Amino acid sequence: MQNRTTSQNRINYSRQTEKIIGDLAKAGRTGERAPRLLLHSCCAPCSSHCMEYLREHFRLTVFYYNPNITVSEEYEKRLAEEKRLIAAYNRQVEDRNFDGMHSTASAHRIDILEAPYDPEDWFAAVRGLENCPEGGDRCTVCFEMRLRKTAQTAASLKNTTQSFGFFTTTLTISPLKDAQRLNAIGLRMAQEYGLVWLPSDFKKKDGYKRSIELSREFDLYRQNYCGCVFSKRDSEKTVLEKSGERL
Ligand code: SF4
Repeated sequence: MQNRTTSQNRINYSRQTEKIIGDLAKAGRTGERAPRLLLHSCCAPCSSHCMEYLREHFRLTVFYYNPNITVSEEYEKRLAEEKRLIAAYNRQVEDRNFDGMHSTASAHRIDILEAPYDPEDWFAAVRGLENCPEGGDRCTVCFEMRLRKTAQTAASLKNTTQSFGFFTTTLTISPLKDAQRLNAIGLRMAQEYGLVWLPSDFKKKDGYKRSIELSREFDLYRQNYCGCVFSKRDSEKTVLEKSGERL
């Protein structure tokens, strides 16, 4: 099922992001003319660097669609943290509280759009893949489900005042997630729905490191598992094995 890539044919998606941003600047698509971007986000820590970087070049709407977080308390906790971080970033913009480290005068305010929470649909989609390790075929299905909903949402707003020039996801910030696979899915969704995918590998250029720094600075809740009950089970098993306890 997985679209494996070899080290020889790995694409540098981080360079592609920079090229697009450079082309937009040359075309004068900055300030109020900056394109709108629908940014699928999995959680506040992962989105922290992505938003800090992208808000300089795009008018962002964060799209919170994560039915993979199948424990509702966890889902609500991550959503609340996402909202808290966006509110803090927007205060920086409103207060013009720029210190040269967090932002520049070109940063835009960020909106958030919440999708309905449908963990039953997610369980149905990954049935039979419960025992896959993280990074395996269950994750491919999970990525596709979340990116398809993001694309469908962007497509539903085409030709309206809410129309998005691009869509993408924060998921490539994680060192545990395959940027080649995520971008291949995103590009396929863009073709299917007639949209423009913003390629990314946000972990590059110290992006992941910056997300850790921002998480500390904003005291964000950082979960120790990806999101689904199966990743939680595997994370707890690893902790127990490391501590020498028998399961
Ligand atoms: S480990 Fe993460 S990406 Fe993989 S299926 Fe679970 S929630 Fe989705």
